[in-house]
Amino acid sequence: MVTAALPIVFLTGHAGSLALAGRGQTAGSFAWLIAAPVLAGLACLWRTRRDGPEGWLPLGAAMLFWAGGMASTMVATLFFDIVREDQLSMLLYVLYGVPLIFALASPEDEKWSVRLVDGLLAAALGYLYYIHVTALIAAAATPQKTLQALQIMFDIENLYIALFAIIRFSARNRGRAEFFRAIAVYAVVYLFSAAYINHFEAEGTYGRWPDLLIDLPFVLLAWHALGAGYRLGLGEAPNAPARARIVRAGGPLLIPASLLTVSVLLVSRDPVMAITGCVIASLGYGLRTMLVQIRNFEEQDELTRLSHVDGLTGIANRRRFDEVLVREWARRRQTTGQLALLMIDIDHFKQLNDRFGHAVGDDRLRCVAAVLAGCARREADLVARYGGEEFAAILSGIEPQDAIAIAERMRTSVEALCLTSGAGSGVVTVSIGLACAQALDTDMAAFVTAADAALYEAKRSGRNRVSRRTATLLRAVEAPAASNDGRAA
Ligand code: GH3
Ligand code: MG
Ligand code: MG
Repeated sequence: MVTAALPIVFLTGHAGSLALAGRGQTAGSFAWLIAAPVLAGLACLWRTRRDGPEGWLPLGAAMLFWAGGMASTMVATLFFDIVREDQLSMLLYVLYGVPLIFALASPEDEKWSVRLVDGLLAAALGYLYYIHVTALIAAAATPQKTLQALQIMFDIENLYIALFAIIRFSARNRGRAEFFRAIAVYAVVYLFSAAYINHFEAEGTYGRWPDLLIDLPFVLLAWHALGAGYRLGLGEAPNAPARARIVRAGGPLLIPASLLTVSVLLVSRDPVMAITGCVIASLGYGLRTMLVQIRNFEEQDELTRLSHVDGLTGIANRRRFDEVLVREWARRRQTTGQLALLMIDIDHFKQLNDRFGHAVGDDRLRCVAAVLAGCARREADLVARYGGEEFAAILSGIEPQDAIAIAERMRTSVEALCLTSGAGSGVVTVSIGLACAQALDTDMAAFVTAADAALYEAKRSGRNRVSRRTATLLRAVEAPAASNDGRAA
């Protein structure tokens, strides 16, 4: 309840202390002015416990820098009679922008190395900003001119931060919408309140009613961070994925762009620092792009690998099988031996599924796949899941009798697993159809059909056996020679 009414409670407290303290009593107001960002900072740090440090931690740090700046202003005002900002508070106000810009511009799911570059660029931006502000103070002929130049610098910084925040919020990063809403509301209110204070109240001292305006963005941020904010419908924005892609790709440009802006503004006062800033901005961005590109290549390679793998069994999938078959069919004239194709089908698998359930069925598929892959290990061999409970193997540059031997080894190895099946012989078995293609064969489809027909024949003649056909004639050349236990080779 108190949390929900936090902005009102805080502002009423501050207003009450201003009303009671009377004119010129600035010390009391300073306590509130420091308490507001401290409250916002602590609320952000508290939020890191719930949502993790991403975003909230740098935001909290920014708030504490700002509170430090205000504390330094208080000391300078109360004890040293400096009317506006002193050097230390200037530094802290500048530092305040660094984690804020970092939280807005650096994508949270990048690699640590990329985020380190972002962090270094944001730090360089803060440093240049500081150099610029101190150069302005040193160079300006009159306090009035200094003030004007500072106003412009802070307006630019605040405008950048507000724009970054609105852009990030508009992209509606799913799961982080609350963070970007909090920071966008904060940054926009801060932009206007700072512009008003800097431009219309610049001559005034602290301890007056405009101080309430300074509190406002901070208490609003604390309110959001504590989760007491209103519940807006934060559903998916229209075109959200497209916008999110643009923001993701373009967002990292924000820090180097700010760095270049400050560097350009610094050219006449400190050309060496200005050039250094430009070099850091361009090299940093180049380095960052290179790191992101490396990650993209890695992801691409991984996606290509995954697109060739069957999700359930981990062996090659049908897509990979089709590619390799076309490749090996084209290559077979250059290799000695023949091209062999094995179609392998688990016997009575439907009954196994019906009896033990699909989870057990899946487990059997994995076991059979592993055994089949273990039987054909040459570099030129490929064992793939063809679909359902069917597998296929491509063996290139092989003599027919060796292909038959491998097929037979596959059959016996699966049987030797002794996996209960609940049908047929009681253990899981496979039937295998084999076709071999010679250099002169021209019809790849007929080759596949031959292997299919051989499998059908193996099934028809009792299952748990190997059967072979030729590619071109589609006729059985080697009928399964029945052995004692009815199996064929
Ligand atoms: P046959 O001996 O003639 O090959 O009989 P079968 O029961 O093995 O063949 P059928 O084509 O009738 O049934 C194949 C079964 O394989 C049906 C289907 O539910 C099951 N199946 C296909 N893909 C999967 C899978 O990924 N996981 C599981 N658990 N079952 C699958
Ligand atoms: Mg089957
Ligand atoms: Mg089948």
